[in-house]
Amino acid sequence: MTTTSASPARTDRRLLALTAAADRRLVDPMAGFVDLAGLRAAVEELTEAFAPLGHVQHTVAAKACGLAPLLRFLGDLGIDAEVASPGETAVAEAAGLRGPRLVLDSPAKTTGELAHALAEGTAINADNFQELARLDRLVGSAPPRSVLGLRINPQVGAGRIGDTSTATASSKFGIPLRDHGGRALLLEAFAHRPWLTRLHVHVGSQGCPPGLMADGVAAVHALAEEINAEAGYRQVTSIDLGGGLPVDFTSDEPGPTYADYVETLLARVPALADGRYTYVTEFGRSLLAKNGFLVSAVEYTKVAGGRHIAVTHAGAQVAARTVLQPELWPLRLSAHDAAGTPKTGPEVPQDVAGPLCFAGDLLARERPLPLLEPGDLVVAHDTGAYYFGAHYAYNTLPRPAVHGFDIGVDGEVRFTPIRRAQSLEELVADAGGEYVGALPNG
Ligand SMILES: *Cc1c(COP(=O)(O)O)cnc(C)c1O
Repeated sequence: MTTTSASPARTDRRLLALTAAADRRLVDPMAGFVDLAGLRAAVEELTEAFAPLGHVQHTVAAKACGLAPLLRFLGDLGIDAEVASPGETAVAEAAGLRGPRLVLDSPAKTTGELAHALAEGTAINADNFQELARLDRLVGSAPPRSVLGLRINPQVGAGRIGDTSTATASSKFGIPLRDHGGRALLLEAFAHRPWLTRLHVHVGSQGCPPGLMADGVAAVHALAEEINAEAGYRQVTSIDLGGGLPVDFTSDEPGPTYADYVETLLARVPALADGRYTYVTEFGRSLLAKNGFLVSAVEYTKVAGGRHIAVTHAGAQVAARTVLQPELWPLRLSAHDAAGTPKTGPEVPQDVAGPLCFAGDLLARERPLPLLEPGDLVVAHDTGAYYFGAHYAYNTLPRPAVHGFDIGVDGEVRFTPIRRAQSLEELVADAGGEYVGALPNG
């Protein structure tokens, strides 16, 4: 990623922020940080890369970024939101994004959600024919204000990670394109509904190479052409390209860039740039992951069976995927002293453990790091998407505070709160506290 001379590079920004956070005691005992300059640069890169495609509505996948101030920050930079639940919709609306600035995707939209989206003029990508039948009833005879589309499963196959591959032959998402009779059913669905004007495809999330994503887009573009030929006019006017650009979790390098991806897309389907369709994107991880990190204090250290173990506060509650599927979702960790300075010294294989009460609650196993001591800080890198924003409530552990940071020209770090740590009162309320005593006795 390129940097301008006025702003320090990502790695330097992170170190400056870390030492400032240690100095201001923001890691208490754990906190998330978001690099706002990095986020601005990512948005710029995204919009520039897609410029050859003409009119593009960029949205951020709210599930990668569940925090209202971040949605507002991105919204002010021109990024709308893709939402997939009533909660995500409410958070986006609280952030000031509503109506046509939202795209509603989800395989399980209730009638109430559909009606709300239609009343608001929010775009909807229907997932299946039963949902389409509900839309028939809700839309009635008046032309809808919402852009309405269908999510297509192009069945182009899986990427490296099965759980995040959505375009397999038997995926739960979208309408299968290659199943026997699938194409004919789709053509018929459009023929009967002039208000269906969009096709949506999202091949998967992390682990899907850009070439596979482009295969999905190519299949959907060809389908749009076929629908329009059948209709005799340009019924399908937009294509929602989904998200899913993979992130390199092994280094500070970004992995494939948006520009690389657009190049791959245009090499595969040059007609995407011919101006006949407008587009939507729904990136999450590639916008956010590299622009966030998680910091935890080391509480205790021990040796068991010859293994060095550092017990921290960062476990599955903030890194569920990494802890539960360590081989698929490894994170880079780095060791720092209490002031945030990188530790030096020989690397020793260590388990970096979280606080949860199960033995597998390890952020990393036998990871070579300078020997950690109580009071040190451990940084989990590239956690700006799907980590501290997607909490897992095991052991009633609180959601950590999240701070945005910017670095002034004088090198001064400015922190802005994004979320405070969950309080004990809030944890009790979440645990049904208001109903204590309500259960019948005897
Ligand atoms: C998860 C998801 C995205 C975002 O995926 P990323 O890998 O975070 O870019 C976009 N669209 C849909 C429909 C999704 O489910």
